[in-house]
Amino acid sequence: MTRKLLVTSALPYANGSIHLGHLVEYIQTDIWVRFQKMQGHTVHYVCADDTHGTPIMLRAEKEGITPEALIEKVHAEHSQDFAEFLVDFDNYYSTNSEENRELASNIYKALKANGKIATKTIEQYFDPVKNMFLPDRFIKGECPKCHAKDQYGDNCEVCGATYSPTDLINPFSAVSGAIPVRKETEHYFFKLSECSDFLRDWTRSGTLQAEAANKMTEWLGEAGENKLSDWDISRDAPYFGFEIPDAPGKYFYVWLDAPIGYMASFKNLCAKAGLDFDEYWKKDSTTELYHFIGKDILYFHALFWPATLEYSGHRKPTNVFAHGFLTVNGEKMSKSRGTFITARSYLDHIKNPEYLRYYYAAKLNGSMEDIDLNLEDFVARVNSDLVGKYINIASRTAGFINKRFAGKLNVTPNNAVIQELVSAKSLIKNAYHDRDFGKALREIMRLADLANGYVADKAPWVMAKQEGADQELQMVCSQAIEMFRLLTLYLKPVLPQLAKQVEQFLNVPSLSFADVEQALPTQHQIGEYAHLITRIDPKQVEAMTEANKENLQSSAPAAAVVTPPAEEANYISIDDFTKVDLRIAKIVNAEHVDGAEKLLKLTLDIGEEKPRQVFAGIKSAYDPETLKGRLTVMVANLAPRKMKFGLSEGMVLAASDERGGPFILSPDSGAQPGMRVK
Ligand SMILES: [Zn+2]
Repeated sequence: MTRKLLVTSALPYANGSIHLGHLVEYIQTDIWVRFQKMQGHTVHYVCADDTHGTPIMLRAEKEGITPEALIEKVHAEHSQDFAEFLVDFDNYYSTNSEENRELASNIYKALKANGKIATKTIEQYFDPVKNMFLPDRFIKGECPKCHAKDQYGDNCEVCGATYSPTDLINPFSAVSGAIPVRKETEHYFFKLSECSDFLRDWTRSGTLQAEAANKMTEWLGEAGENKLSDWDISRDAPYFGFEIPDAPGKYFYVWLDAPIGYMASFKNLCAKAGLDFDEYWKKDSTTELYHFIGKDILYFHALFWPATLEYSGHRKPTNVFAHGFLTVNGEKMSKSRGTFITARSYLDHIKNPEYLRYYYAAKLNGSMEDIDLNLEDFVARVNSDLVGKYINIASRTAGFINKRFAGKLNVTPNNAVIQELVSAKSLIKNAYHDRDFGKALREIMRLADLANGYVADKAPWVMAKQEGADQELQMVCSQAIEMFRLLTLYLKPVLPQLAKQVEQFLNVPSLSFADVEQALPTQHQIGEYAHLITRIDPKQVEAMTEANKENLQSSAPAAAVVTPPAEEANYISIDDFTKVDLRIAKIVNAEHVDGAEKLLKLTLDIGEEKPRQVFAGIKSAYDPETLKGRLTVMVANLAPRKMKFGLSEGMVLAASDERGGPFILSPDSGAQPGMRVK
């Protein structure tokens, strides 16, 4: 019996670009889906943009467009990024669809009929200027614990404390700046507190990774305990989302309709492809349902979502697979280090999406551990594994078949390396199935080493010069091509585009796992070998991180001052200080930079023959016209830095913290350009 699988990736939010962190999940899911399809199963892979909620509403307002226009623009951008990374959705839809409105309404009605909906009057902060209730993230104020200013309503970024917005000191609305008032409002709740027993069973039934199931036990408590609160599923107008059917002015909270967006995207696919929606979602469905998610949204997918499905009469997920976060060079992605890299920027600089797919696959093992993109290792591994090992097998042998034997192979069975390649099938299949892609690739590279060893041993380039060795030359090269075919088949879920090129070169139909034991026919005719991939030049990676460093100086205007790494280093010597060459600078010109969000280009006279060019992250605070002719202070001996927009030959000093800024410095009158500050 062929299995029928419905697979999803989490829905990206429609207010920003796809970046390399997002891609861990889409690449992971896509590899798994392609593997399942290569097994001959029926697989549907769907996703959508997550389009509702206050952030989308406010961003659209800020851009002066409708939310619908904003999400349409983002949808086009996301679709393009995914397509170019070879993430092959069967449907990529939007949660702002009629299918989703209808499904969300029906699920709500079913939950209500089941006695799972309650209303409660709660008190919430209200912005009297904007006339709207404020989500936690849109209230700011002083941290009740450490008294840091300008902290969000749910947690403090300085001391890490979490609290409720009503605990903030001197709260203000991040939308209008107004002082919010407390106001009562009626909200709709899903009675999650009544679902503890069901969820305890469900989360312990093999649906989650062990580490995720343990996390759920923390949240659920032991049998008999009830630690869950009811879930607030409504928001008041104005809100960009779906109005609750029997409650005018009340909207579904974005997290209620977002996972229903998986169903809606599939329903949309069903209409296009003639599939039976109910077969996949009815309570006793025999199809399989898999959700790939990041570990940060486990709460929604392992508690809210199965409970919503259970009590609205639908099937539950077969598995929820959570993965960890991406770090780059061992640290959180960072705009100042240039490691907050968008999908687009990667494509602009590195171009080949399969390099990243290969590297991520090599790091993924099916657990919730974070994975690290070490950029140096990325270059080394792609060059050594893909170019040095895998492609090398074809590039050293195919030319002889093409030139000396008119493309005709002479494959003979009973080659020990080929047999080892064939018998590795079940190990590789199991590793892919378990999402332990790293294990699959380690085995495939071990086999590639064996194949290279075979080629090196037989040295076809020596045979090619010997008289009467033609037959053996053809045989050896043919065996190598068969090895290359098997390696390509095993790598195909990770490298689908390259595999397609190889299939054309080998003159074979689309490879699937059933073809492992079907060696190329003895007299098979292959196509002309053309060079398949090239090495990554480390310069491409450098250029990519440089291009993403745009706001380096704006985020740390005082970076020239040595920051002590530890407490005992709180003092610096006078020698340390005099290393910094501070000069009075006259701003002779200041102008906007095309395409730079935060930078102004300054021309600074410090008494040298030629003025300095400096890019400064002060655009948010200064009109360039008002800067012309002013005196300020610059670091004159900072190593010149090549930025996306040109060379920056120093840095101007500016003050800032949560109270405002940046404020550039001014010397007292009398100071002249070029004077040393000490
Ligand atoms: Zn704090």
